This record gives sequence, structure tokens and C-alpha cells, in this order.
Amino acid sequence: MPYNFFAIFLLFCVSIFSQPLSVEPKDYAMPIKEAESWVLRFVHPLLLRHSKDPNEIEGLRKRLDAFITLSDKGVICGYPAPFYHPVKRNTVAEMSYFPKLKKPCLILFVPRAMDIQKLETAEKFENYILMAVAHEMIHYEKEKGVTQNGPQPTRLELAKAEATAYGIVILEMIRPMLLRGRKLADIDVLMSNKLRQFKDDINSPLWVTQFLDYDTDKWNPYR
Ligand SMILES: [Zn+2]
Repeated sequence: MPYNFFAIFLLFCVSIFSQPLSVEPKDYAMPIKEAESWVLRFVHPLLLRHSKDPNEIEGLRKRLDAFITLSDKGVICGYPAPFYHPVKRNTVAEMSYFPKLKKPCLILFVPRAMDIQKLETAEKFENYILMAVAHEMIHYEKEKGVTQNGPQPTRLELAKAEATAYGIVILEMIRPMLLRGRKLADIDVLMSNKLRQFKDDINSPLWVTQFLDYDTDKWNPYR
């Protein structure tokens, strides 16, 4: 069961890649029960299905499987947030450290995910959510455990981390999915083409530059 449902009336968590988040009930865009039931209806079965499908793209399948396996073991948790990201409203998911639970949690910002569901076809929406979870699991792999220790990363360090995570998603998921004719959100196709301009080098300084605003609301794929 990837999503442990628990009520946190004052959520305070430390993101590895951005400012500490502080959210109060007045910031909720929907009742917590609604966010939970939406995740149970649309996200939970989707993740289970694709993590168990031997025909799924390997780079995607293994990250989804890691999320479910580590959640089942209680190493990480999933949190269906009934609010938008307090700083970056367009963010759909984020891996953050929850001091109260003493573990990293993959936060799914449910109001934002529901907005995307309205904007995209069912197939594009599903692929977007699958890759959002995989993207966060790449951060988990890279940051080994995700803790609250360590200094606040610089803007360039944040950009590098996003350039790497997004780059891996493109090379290991987006490209193979497009080859199979799967339909993806425009932003993913656009970013995939952009990476080609830098010869698929995910460490290229010019590729990293694309992500300097990633931590702000300026980086909005749906604007
Ligand atoms: Zn990221």
C-alpha cells in the first residue's frame, strides 16, 4: 500500500530541494478525505498496475516498484496532500523529509494533479503521474535516503539536481515511451527535444541552465 493515510493538521516538512514547507488547514484546497479517496481511485491502482507490468519500460517500472516496495517496508511514505505546493503551485509531486515521521515522504499535491487531469487526455495524464513519481524516486536514489541534515542547496545545485532527474526521465522513460507510440504531455516532448540540442548530455551547463527557475513558479509547463 503506497499511501499511508494519516492526518497531519500542521504539516511541516523539509524538502531536500527547496524551502521548508509549512502548511496549515486554512491552506487546504479540499478536505483531506477527498484527496485520499481521489488518490485511491486514480493513482494507487495506476502505480500498482504499471509497477507489476513486465512489459512496462524498465526505467519507469523499477522506480514505481521501488516506491511501492519501500512504502510497504515503511522506509518512505506517500502523502496525498489536499493543498497546492505553497511556493510552486504547479508542482505535482515532491520528495520531502518529514521530521515527525522521521522518514522521507513522496507528497502528491492532489489539487494540482486534479487540474492536470482536466487539462490532459486520460493517457497523457496517467503517463504524467507515473513519471512524476519516478522523477521523485530518482531524487531519492541520488540523495540516498533524503534527510534534513546538510546545508540549504544553492540555486545552481538545485538546477543540477533537476537537470539530472529530468534528464534521466527523458533518456530512460520519455524516449522509449515515445518510440512505443505512447502519448505524453507536450512539456515532456518539448524537453526531450531540447535535450537533443545538447547532445543528450544531462550534465551540459546549457541543459542545467534550463532548470535555474525550476524551484520557482516561473517554471510552469502549463502556462
Ligand atoms: Zn525534481
